[in-house]
Amino acid sequence: MRENAAKTSRPPLLVRMHFNPSRAQCGEIETSSIGALKKWALGKISQRTTQLQTDMPSFWDSYFHTRGLRPTARPQERKSGQYASSTVSMLNFTIAASAYLWLLAFLPALVRGAIYESASELPGRHFDFVIVGGGTAGNVIANRLTEDPRFSVLVLEAGPSNIGVLDSEVPGFDSNLIPPGPYNWNYTTVPQEGLNGRSMGYIRGFMLGGTSSLNAMFYTRGPADDFDRFAKVTGDQGWSWNSVQPFMRKNERWTEPTDHHDTRTQFDPRFHSFTGINAVSLSGFPHSYNDRVIQTTKELSEEFPFNLDYNSGNPLGVGWLQATIKDGVRSSSATSYLASKFVDRRNLHVLVNARVTRVRGGRHSKAFDTVDFVFQSGDGPAISVTASKEIVLSAGVFGTPQLLMLSGIGDTNELQGLGVQTIHHLPSVGKNMSDHPGLFNSWSVNATTDEDFFRNGSLFEEAYREWNRSHSGILGDPVATHLGWFRLPSNSSIFSEIGDPASGSTAPHIEMIFTDGLHPPLPTGNFLSIGNAVVTPTSRGWLRLNSTNPFDPPLINPGFLTSGFDVFAMRSVVKMTKRFVGATAWSGWVIGPAGDLAQANSDEEIDDYVRRNSGSTCHAVGTAAMSAVNAPFGVVDPDLRVKGVRGLRVVDASIFPYIPAAHPQVPVYIVAERAADLMKETWD
Ligand SMILES: Cc1cc2nc3c(=O)[nH]c(=O)nc-3n(C[C@H](O)[C@H](O)[C@H](O)COP(=O)(O)OP(=O)(O)OC[C@H]3O[C@@H](n4cnc5c(N)ncnc54)[C@H](O)[C@@H]3O)c2cc1C
Repeated sequence: MRENAAKTSRPPLLVRMHFNPSRAQCGEIETSSIGALKKWALGKISQRTTQLQTDMPSFWDSYFHTRGLRPTARPQERKSGQYASSTVSMLNFTIAASAYLWLLAFLPALVRGAIYESASELPGRHFDFVIVGGGTAGNVIANRLTEDPRFSVLVLEAGPSNIGVLDSEVPGFDSNLIPPGPYNWNYTTVPQEGLNGRSMGYIRGFMLGGTSSLNAMFYTRGPADDFDRFAKVTGDQGWSWNSVQPFMRKNERWTEPTDHHDTRTQFDPRFHSFTGINAVSLSGFPHSYNDRVIQTTKELSEEFPFNLDYNSGNPLGVGWLQATIKDGVRSSSATSYLASKFVDRRNLHVLVNARVTRVRGGRHSKAFDTVDFVFQSGDGPAISVTASKEIVLSAGVFGTPQLLMLSGIGDTNELQGLGVQTIHHLPSVGKNMSDHPGLFNSWSVNATTDEDFFRNGSLFEEAYREWNRSHSGILGDPVATHLGWFRLPSNSSIFSEIGDPASGSTAPHIEMIFTDGLHPPLPTGNFLSIGNAVVTPTSRGWLRLNSTNPFDPPLINPGFLTSGFDVFAMRSVVKMTKRFVGATAWSGWVIGPAGDLAQANSDEEIDDYVRRNSGSTCHAVGTAAMSAVNAPFGVVDPDLRVKGVRGLRVVDASIFPYIPAAHPQVPVYIVAERAADLMKETWD
């Protein structure tokens, strides 16, 4: 019944980066590799997107290529077995033998739930709720709604199942999902004016679990002030930091690191939940530079204080990374919220490979109750399902506004230009896109670093054997070990030009990410890399339809570095990072800056370095933003209902009115947990 995704063919070549001194960190993809990869990818995913321009790697492309090696021989792929597939198949077979057609037509809620690969397996066409997108947010809604046996729920996911996708399971293999491939939507941005006209690949997860199935797994909630600002701009106190605590706790299940070391100096248990669904843990593998990071927080404690737990509501300072990993395996919304005990519910149905093309009501009606989809390959007829209570759009920051516009909800002028009939004029759809610009800085070091594992075949094989044995070692770990969050000094000149864009005094403007290795790696040498990002950017971008063909990727413009604040903040964090590495804790260990960084000294040189090397952290939000009930802008109300129509809610990263000063998966989980509660209240 289910696809064994591990059998899906893989790219013909590794995308190896090689160091190009003239471009420093932006190594170039070997021409032969990219040609073969493009050919393969186009053949595989032409229905999904034809845009595979790679003028530059995104932030994550350049970051992950250090770890972009695969094992030379892959031991038999492990299956999670989280859906107890054989039990579900047998049961469905037995039922089908006697009463399949009857059930198909009349009693969908009595059939045991399952993950289906073909629409013909669906128990019916009518459900209480239809969720578009089985990603980070969508699976939370599906799980929570089906706690109530009265509700039948269908999830439609365009991508395949996550089951058996080893690269998604093994934390150390996440890099393999970054290049264009079958589990990535393979979007491309329009040329970015602020990045010297470059365009870049934009990664989104294309499988069950969505982007939580391929992200870097950092677990960051953001500052308390961010949530208090959401409450303020929407007029709904339910979004405040204090009010969302129960939802945070329903989501999180704190677990031990793989090496079971003493973690008392690495997190504060008072701020964590041990009873939620999505697992979180600290790193279980020591890295060569760990002590030096901590020593620097002591030596330069005024500028870089240690923070025992950046998830307390006050993230400022340097703390140990927390990640959505359990026992050395990724915890995504698919492995957690769709674990077998949940998917076995009779009222939960998940269909993969189902590409939704639009949502609609009756003729020109603003009451939405129907979802049209086609099989992802484009083969076969369009199929319609209905939702008697609500349709939930959880198709992500690009998929959701694209579907709204394809369904006639958007700016009339833009829709008319493309020949789409407007059902409801809502000009904010697709506007307000906000993303964290980022880059990696590297220093050559006099030590053994992580990159040795990823370029030395026998070390790598040993690491992989260890992961297979016990899920421990370097492959059971996330790519970084510490995060630092900082505010710009209050006397920074930029604040005399514009106000402070942060949500309050607990909110950082800039971030540092600490990791071993040069990105991309050299064949020899060892490096320290520290990522930088602006987490309160004031640049804004947009998403527009390219055509009325739902298989055509939309036009994506994150608008990177188009504001003076963002350039100032990037320049400041690069300088700060140099000061961090200038601490005596690093002397004798750090040899010197690598590549372009060595020449980035004056403000002008740093700005040039920033514009040439920055990319996307892939944290885009805001394309269907939430606003107060009577606000003249915004797409959804504080209960996440689409304004001006009935039957439609949006629950995903699109709804943030401001980008969280955090890696956004946890804010998305929190939003989804609360949304499920709001929906249950509505239909109780
Ligand atoms: C490389 C990378 C690294 C990241 N690292 C981190 C990190 O370490 N920590 C962190 O907090 N955040 C990280 N993020 C960001 C974070 O993962 C996302 O912001 C978040 O997961 C988005 O959740 P979502 O529910 O909005 O969308 P998604 O999880 O992307 O879900 C949308 C789902 O809808 C499906 N879909 C879309 N269109 C359709 C359609 N027409 N029909 C049917 N289905 C459809 C998609 O296939 C997908 O499954 C990272 C992102 C990337 C790309």
